[in-house]
Amino acid sequence: MALFPRPTGDPADPADAVDMCDTYDIAVCGGGLAGATLARQVKLRHPGATVLVVDSQAYPVPVAAFKVGESTVDIAGFYFAELLGLRDYMAQRHLPKLGLRYFFGAPDRALWEAPEVGLSRFSRCPTYQIDRGVLENDLYEMNVAAGVEIATGARVLDIELAPGAEPHRVAFRDCDGNERTVRCRWVVDAMGRLRFLQRKLGLQRETDGMFNAAWFRVRGRLDIEDFVPDTQVEWHARVPGRVRYFSTNHLMGPGYWVWLIPLGSGNTSVGIVSSGALQAIGEMDTLERAIDWLARHEPAVAAGVARHEIMDFVVARDFSYTSSLAISADRWACVGEAAAFADPFYSPGSNMIAFENTAVVTLLGEDAAGAFDETRAAELNSFVLAQNDWVEYNIHSSYSYFGEPLIMTVSFIWDTLLAWTTATPQIYNGIYLDAAKSAAVRAETTNLYPLALRVKRLFKQWEGRARRGRRFVFVDYASIPFLQEAYERNLVAGKTIDELVADHRITMAVVEEVALAIFLIAVDDTMPARRRTLDAAPWLNAWAIGLDPELWAHDGLFAPTTPPRDVSGVLGQLERLFEPDAVDAVGAATIDLDL
Ligand SMILES: Cc1cc2nc3c(=O)[nH]c(=O)nc-3n(C[C@H](O)[C@H](O)[C@H](O)COP(=O)(O)OP(=O)(O)OC[C@H]3O[C@@H](n4cnc5c(N)ncnc54)[C@H](O)[C@@H]3O)c2cc1C
Repeated sequence: MALFPRPTGDPADPADAVDMCDTYDIAVCGGGLAGATLARQVKLRHPGATVLVVDSQAYPVPVAAFKVGESTVDIAGFYFAELLGLRDYMAQRHLPKLGLRYFFGAPDRALWEAPEVGLSRFSRCPTYQIDRGVLENDLYEMNVAAGVEIATGARVLDIELAPGAEPHRVAFRDCDGNERTVRCRWVVDAMGRLRFLQRKLGLQRETDGMFNAAWFRVRGRLDIEDFVPDTQVEWHARVPGRVRYFSTNHLMGPGYWVWLIPLGSGNTSVGIVSSGALQAIGEMDTLERAIDWLARHEPAVAAGVARHEIMDFVVARDFSYTSSLAISADRWACVGEAAAFADPFYSPGSNMIAFENTAVVTLLGEDAAGAFDETRAAELNSFVLAQNDWVEYNIHSSYSYFGEPLIMTVSFIWDTLLAWTTATPQIYNGIYLDAAKSAAVRAETTNLYPLALRVKRLFKQWEGRARRGRRFVFVDYASIPFLQEAYERNLVAGKTIDELVADHRITMAVVEEVALAIFLIAVDDTMPARRRTLDAAPWLNAWAIGLDPELWAHDGLFAPTTPPRDVSGVLGQLERLFEPDAVDAVGAATIDLDL
C-alpha cells in the first residue's frame, strides 16, 4: 500500500494524461550521495512509500576516480551506521577513519619535525573514508532491492512545482530518449551543484570570498607513514601500528590545506584546497601546475605522489555557495550540493546530507500521518541553513591562520568541542526534528552563539599578533580531558528531554570555561605582561573577551554574568599541550608593562 493516497488527476486534461503508475509519494531527482541515501532512508522509515529516483548516471559508475566527498565526521558516521543501517556494510566495503590529523610543516623542514595534531587510536563511534564509486554502486543495488524505482541514464528536464495539495510534476528524458512526466506528492532536488531548483526559483545565495580546490587520485596506497624513515622511532611510536593512513591527513599552510584520504578501493585521494585571496588558483589548475605547487609547498607529498600513477585530475573554482530556502512547506526540498556547500574542511558535506535527508524523511512521515505542519518545515529549513552558514563563516574565516600551528590547534580544539557538544547531539538524538526537544535545548543555549562569535573574533585578532611563543610536537586531541568528557557524554543516542537539558547545561559551563582558557592563552601569546592582571581577577566575562585591553572594562570583561568558578583545570589541560618556548618567540609582541 502506498504511503499516501494517490492524487486523482483529471483525465480530460492532457497534462494529466500520464500512466497512474507514474505517480509517486516522492520523486528524488539525482541519485548521487544525497539522492541515493535519501531513497534508502525513505524506504527504511516508510516501507510503503513509492519512491522514484531519476538519475543521469549509468551503473556501475567507476570506482576511485569518481567524486569527492570521501571523508566523514561524526554526524555522517552516525547517519551511515545507524540511520541508514549500514554499520556492517561500511565496515566491510569502506575504511574506518582515524579522525582528523594536521601537520604544520614548512617546505624546508622534514615532515617529522612538523607539529602534529591527531588521534592515536580509533574512536568509539565509527567514522569512514568512503570510496564514492563503490558506495554509489552498492546503494544502487540496495535501493533496487528495497523497491525504489530508479530511472538510470535519465535526464531531468523540468520540475514543475504545484501549489497546495496538487501533485508536483517531474519531466525527464529516459535512457531510450523518450520524454516522460511523473507526478509526485514530494519532490527533492538532489542533482548536485547544478542547483536546478535553486536557480529555477532564484534562491541561490553566493558566499563571500573565493575558495578553490584541485584534486586527483593516485593508484595504490600513498601512506604518510612512508614519508618518514623508520629511524624516526619516536614519531612512529606515538601513533602505534602505522595507522596514520586512515586519518584524513591535512598538510597545513598559509591559506591552504592539502588532503590525503585513503579509499576503500585501495587508492588514495589527494587535494589542495585554498583561499583565492592567499593562494593563486592559477598555480594549481592543471595537473602539472598542481604537482609543481606541491613540490614548492609540500615537498614530501610531491615526492610521494611521484611514485604513483595519477588516475584523474579535477579543479573546482569558487566552490562555496548557500541558499535562502532548502526545505519548503510546499513539499519540496533541495538536499546535498543542490542546497548548499560550505567547504570540504571538517567534511561538512555529508553532515548536511544527514541533516537534510532526515528532515525530509521526518516531514514525509508527518505528512502521511496527517500531521504536517508548515511551521515545522520552516524550522527545519532554518536549522539546516543555519548549520551550513555557520560552518561556512567559521571555516572560511580560519584560512588566514591555517599556517599558524598554535592558533589553528586551539581553534580546532574549540571547533571540536562545539561540534561534539552542540551539532552532533542534534543528529544522535534527533533534537532538531522534535519541536519539544529543540525548544528545551534552545532555552539552555541562547548564549552559545554570541560566545562562539566572540571566540572567533578572538582568533582573528590573535592571528595578526602571534608571538609564536609556545611550541608542541604532538597533540592527541582525544586525550584532552574536557574533550574526552564531551565526546563520551554527547555521542550517545536515545536521551530524554531532561537528559538533553542536563547535557546542555554542562556544555554551557564547559564552553564558557574553555573560552576563558583560550583567551588567557591568547593574551599570554600576544601580550604576556597583561596576563597577570587577568590572573588576579576572581572571574571574567567570557562574552567580553578580546585582545584589545582598552576595551576590556568597557565590554564588561571584569563584570561577569555567571558565578565565579575555577578555570585552572581546563586552562591547565590546554596549557600543558603547548610548551613555552621563549627563545623561538618572534613577531609582533605588544610589550606593555604599563599595568
Ligand atoms: C573539493 C571538495 C571536496 C569535498 N570533500 C568532501 C568530504 O571529504 N566529505 C564530505 O562529506 N563532502 C565533501 N564534499 C562535498 C561532497 O562533494 C558532497 O557532500 C556530495 O558529493 C554531494 O552529493 P550530492 O548527491 O549532492 O551530489 P552528486 O554526488 O554530485 O550527485 C548528483 C547526482 O545528480 C545527477 N544529476 C545531475 N544532473 C542531473 C539531471 N539533469 N538529471 C538527472 N540526474 C542528474 C548526477 O548524475 C549525480 O548522480 C567535497 C566537495 C568538494 C567541492
